[in-house]
Amino acid sequence: MKRVLVTGGAGFIGSHLCEKLLLDGNDVICLDNFFTGVKQNIIHLLDNKYFELVRHDVIDPFKAEVDEIFNLACPASPIHYQYNPIKTVKTSVMGAINMLGLAKRLNAKILQASTSEVYGDPNVHPQTENYWGNVNPIGLRSCYDEGKRLAETLFMNYHFQNNVRIKIIRIFNTYGPRMHPNDGRVVSNFIVQALTNNPITIYGDGSQTRSFQYVDDLVNGMIKMMNSSDDFLGPVNIGNPCEFTILQLAEKVIDMTGSNSKIVFKPLPSDDPIRRRPDISLAQKMLDWKPIINLEKGLSKTIAYFEDYLKNNKLGN
Ligand code: NAD
Ligand code: UDP
Repeated sequence: MKRVLVTGGAGFIGSHLCEKLLLDGNDVICLDNFFTGVKQNIIHLLDNKYFELVRHDVIDPFKAEVDEIFNLACPASPIHYQYNPIKTVKTSVMGAINMLGLAKRLNAKILQASTSEVYGDPNVHPQTENYWGNVNPIGLRSCYDEGKRLAETLFMNYHFQNNVRIKIIRIFNTYGPRMHPNDGRVVSNFIVQALTNNPITIYGDGSQTRSFQYVDDLVNGMIKMMNSSDDFLGPVNIGNPCEFTILQLAEKVIDMTGSNSKIVFKPLPSDDPIRRRPDISLAQKMLDWKPIINLEKGLSKTIAYFEDYLKNNKLGN
């Protein structure tokens, strides 16, 4: 039985990862400061004897004896990471240093949840791992983008300087149950707006694209990456290459929910990437991984989750 630490384990992706790691027979420590994560996401795991919950902030050092670390702690939605940009940078950078220090001491394997945002507003399409990106270092998104880029730098240097066993994945837009209903991300926004018959807010003209990955596909990719041979460090893209415009997404959500919502157009936030799609050839070759859940199937599971959520909770909780 492996002991696995998941930082950010009470968040959207972290809670699914903890669940899968427990199912696979691991002993799991979930570490979270509950900035965007909530106990509700992991409440069903609290009775499991192999699950431990620790309230802790990754900007402070943490000690525990573990075999593997998945480093996810970091707010991921633009609203949340821009709320306190300095804290976002500290979380990415000091969190990485603290977790890499722990991995070094324990000779543990450590995986960094990096992001497609390291490519910024990309000039290369689809994005391959050897593209260096087009990031505004002083823009609204820079606290997140540059924080994640520096975390990748730290991971690489801890590997080359100290032989730490590292893995880096670059996650593309992921959605599914347990997304925060108020975190402003497009899939949760559109579904909640459609289910409550409120206007669907498209920023810009809706021609910008994203490629949406269902959370179960991501979790499988993360675990495959952690279990891959030690000499495969990444970075490797983990995402679904099916690309949609934001307008297409809005229309699909309206159609699938049978909503009366009308589409309204709002200003596009600054530095909003125009297009994004992963090239996943490296993941296919090195991990024998590709996503298997298409947008319709994933959206129907996510819509069902939010229908249930809205019956039992008030928005804003
Ligand atoms: P989330 O906000 O639901 O989860 C982040 C978790 O980290 C939350 O539980 C939060 O409370 C916790 N956290 C934040 N700051 C912390 C700190 N200082 N100390 C301890 N815990 C802290 O977001 P998510 O979508 O689940 O994202 C998880 C990870 O995946 C993040 O690192 C994010 O950058 C990365 N990622 C996500 C996406 C996506 O589409 N969801 C895309 C690319 C990368
Ligand atoms: N978006 C939108 N309406 C919303 C929320 C987001 O049109 O209510 C757009 C946003 O401007 C971006 C895309 O949807 O172009 C994806 O936004 P999200 O915040 O989910 O992810 P990211 O921009 O970080 O990829």
